[in-house]
Amino acid sequence: MTRPKTYITRRVPQDAIDIVAAACDYDIWDSEDQPTPRDVLLHAAANADGVLAMLADRIDAEFLDAAPRCRVVANMAVGYDNADVPALTRRGVLLTNTPGVLTETTADLAWALLMAAGRRIVEGQKLIEAGRWKSWSPMFMVGQDIYGATLGIVGAGRIGSAVARRAAAFNMRVLYHNRRPSAELEAQTGAQYRPLDDLLREADFVVVLVPLTTETRGMFGAREFALMKPTAVFVNIARGPIVKELDLVAALQQGSPGAAGLDVFENEPIGADHPLLRLPNVTAVPHIGSATVATRTRMATTAATNLVAALTGQPVPNPVNPEVLGNDN
Ligand code: NAP
Repeated sequence: MTRPKTYITRRVPQDAIDIVAAACDYDIWDSEDQPTPRDVLLHAAANADGVLAMLADRIDAEFLDAAPRCRVVANMAVGYDNADVPALTRRGVLLTNTPGVLTETTADLAWALLMAAGRRIVEGQKLIEAGRWKSWSPMFMVGQDIYGATLGIVGAGRIGSAVARRAAAFNMRVLYHNRRPSAELEAQTGAQYRPLDDLLREADFVVVLVPLTTETRGMFGAREFALMKPTAVFVNIARGPIVKELDLVAALQQGSPGAAGLDVFENEPIGADHPLLRLPNVTAVPHIGSATVATRTRMATTAATNLVAALTGQPVPNPVNPEVLGNDN
C-alpha cells in the first residue's frame, strides 16, 4: 500500500515527526522562526494528502485549489481562525485542532499578564534599567491589588475556566460572560454570569478568551473600553482582531482601562515601533500563551495523531468539521 504524503509547515518537536513518519511520507518546512512562504506552501500542497499546519498558514480557497489531493489539515492550535471551515467542509477536507492540551499553560500566561500589568512588573524593570529608580516613595510605582479584586472573564470555556479556578487562591470574585450561562462553570468555580457591559463595568481585571469568529471580531472597541473602570486591567490572550487596536491605544492613553497585558495583536508579528509599545501601561509578549516545552510537544503530537488518524482511517480525536467524516467517526 502506498503511504500517504504529508507536509509539515514548520519545525515541530521530534516526537510529532516520529508519529507522522511511522505511517506517512513527509516533507517539512524545517524553520524555527519563519513560516512556510506562501508559494512554497501552495507548491507543496499539490502532492499532499494531508498537511500539519500552523496558525500562520492561511487555509483558504486558494490553498484548497492548490491541494486537490488533500484530505486533512491538522492545525497545531486550538483556535482555527486561519482556516476557512465552510470552504474545507464543502470540499470534504477534514480540519482538526488541539483542544485541551494547552489549557492550563495558556491560563498560566493569562495570570502572568494579569499580574505583570496590574503590578507594573515590566515597567518597573525598564525604569531600573533606565537608571530612574531614585528612592522608595509612598506613591512610587503603585499598581492594583489582585487579592480580593473582581475578575471578569469574557469567554469562559476551557481556558477561561482554568483562569477562573486560579482566582480562588486570590480570594477574587469571578464574573464571566459567554453567549449563554454555564451551570457547570458556576458550580465548579463560583463564577457569576453577567451581560458583557455589566461585566466590563464591574471587573477590576478583564481577561478575554473568546475564539476569533465573525461575531467576536472587533468585540472590544472605544465603547467597551469606556465602560471599564479607569483602574481596570485588560488582558487579551485570545486573538488580536477581537480588539480594535487603535481604540485600545487611545483608551490606554486616556487612562481607561488603566493598563493592558497583551499576548496577541491585530497583525502579528508586531515590530518595535508598534504604538502599543510606546505606552508605559502596556505589558506585551509575542503570542506565547501555549509556549512551554511540554505543551508545545503535546500540541504537536496531538496534531500529528489527528493527521495520521485521518489518513489511515482511524478514529480522529479532534475533528473541527466532523460532518466530512460521515457517521462512523
Ligand atoms: P473554548 O473552550 O471553546 O472557549 C471559548 C469560550 O468562548 C466558550 O465558553 C464560549 O461560550 C465563549 N464564546 C464563544 N463565542 C462567544 C461570543 N460571541 N460571545 C461571548 N462568548 C463567546 O476555547 P478555549 O480552548 O478556551 O480557547 C479559547 C481561545 O483562546 C481559542 O479560540 C484561541 O483563539 C485562544 N487561545 C490563545 C492562545 C495563545 O497562545 N494566546 C492559546 C490557546 C488558545 P459560548 O459558546 O457559551 O458562547
